[in-house]
Amino acid sequence: MARERTCVACRQKGDDDSLIRLVASPSGDVVVDLRGRLPGRGAWLHVTNDCLSRLTKRPDSLRRPLRAPVSSDGLREQVMDAIGRAAMDGLSLASAAGALVGGHDALERELTCHRIAAVVVAEDASDRTIASLKEAADPDVSFVVLPLDRDALGHNVGRGPRAALGVTSSRSASHLRQQLRRLRQLR
Ligand SMILES: [Zn+2]
Repeated sequence: MARERTCVACRQKGDDDSLIRLVASPSGDVVVDLRGRLPGRGAWLHVTNDCLSRLTKRPDSLRRPLRAPVSSDGLREQVMDAIGRAAMDGLSLASAAGALVGGHDALERELTCHRIAAVVVAEDASDRTIASLKEAADPDVSFVVLPLDRDALGHNVGRGPRAALGVTSSRSASHLRQQLRRLRQLR
């Protein structure tokens, strides 16, 4: 069950899926606690550009929930980093569980058959490749570019170069899909 939390930036409520937890490090920096397991007092933040920039402008709003003065310098980069790393973990997990579809023709076919929930795109994928995949995809399939080139994207899942990987709606890919949703919201 997703628990309801209050965003420290906008004071609106949300659940664990839409918010991330922040804690204070001993040196007074904000640490992103994506798994929500770090000890100590935490504050919750919507994974949106709005709430992130609101908080960056008013880091004092963290002082009370964290009971410590913290600096919000580099907070955006930290959030992007943490989610990016989690997306890599998610890629490996999903790959091991067979929840990814690679290879242009196979991916295009699965998109046409509505069996793909999201597409991970290499940063150096050609516009033409992406355009043809988008044409095959349902309009609600999200395409998310990761900071990886084709070689690295393929390597990450133990394959040769991949311009794009399809993510199925399998449960074993839910962690990955969650990070992709978050990355999209921050662009
Ligand atoms: Zn918010």
